[in-house]
Amino acid sequence: MMDIAANLNMVREQMRCAAETAGRKPESIRLIAVSKTKPVSMIREAVACGVRDFGENRPQELAQKFVEVPNVRWHLIGQLQRNKVKLIIDKAFLIHSVDSLALAEEIEKRAAAIDKIQDVLIQVNISGESTKSGVSPEEAPDLCRKISLLPHIRILGLMTISVKDFSEDENRALFAKLQELAKKIEQMEIPGVFMQEISMGMTHDYTAAILAGATMVRIGSGIFGERNTKI
Ligand SMILES: *Cc1c(COP(=O)(O)O)cnc(C)c1O
Repeated sequence: MMDIAANLNMVREQMRCAAETAGRKPESIRLIAVSKTKPVSMIREAVACGVRDFGENRPQELAQKFVEVPNVRWHLIGQLQRNKVKLIIDKAFLIHSVDSLALAEEIEKRAAAIDKIQDVLIQVNISGESTKSGVSPEEAPDLCRKISLLPHIRILGLMTISVKDFSEDENRALFAKLQELAKKIEQMEIPGVFMQEISMGMTHDYTAAILAGATMVRIGSGIFGERNTKI
């Protein structure tokens, strides 16, 4: 039996330690519990422990769980196909995975139709691995500029995924690059583009992410246990 309360205590303690080491306020870092593939019963347990932010990477699953677990914030963290935007547009608190103008234009259209301003993060492929989604760091500023012209989208920051099996030091260096990119984009002072959120860090690298300036960490297996299916 997975002890979600104990796992959460441990994660929160580690987050607090990392924040203190970095000289940051623990409250400035939001824990997103990644509940993909996990049953609603486990999500309810996390809610009982005070978790209010959940991450899903499949639009359909987010849409279902949104109905079953009300009064929490749902984050879409996985790759989003344009034809799935309609499934989550009225449900997603924050979309972490915007990496193309075409996707942003679909979000704009759907958000406009329900009179919503959709908060998003731009996913950046910092590592340059070809298997990763995300815009390249070089193209990110221009993408932000173009998306900023869409009135129903608000860019709140950047998101990235690190490389599996990277060491703590390698992760920190990689995450630091995202933080630098965010600073660079902030200095461009693009109207309507904010760089207040940096979503980075998963179960195996969230300490490094917090040391490098993450404001949101996305933790799945460290809270809910390993997943059977790899998604
Ligand atoms: C699955 C997933 C996570 C959580 O991964 P864990 O290693 O289980 O913590 C975080 N971010 C994204 C984008 C994911 O797909």
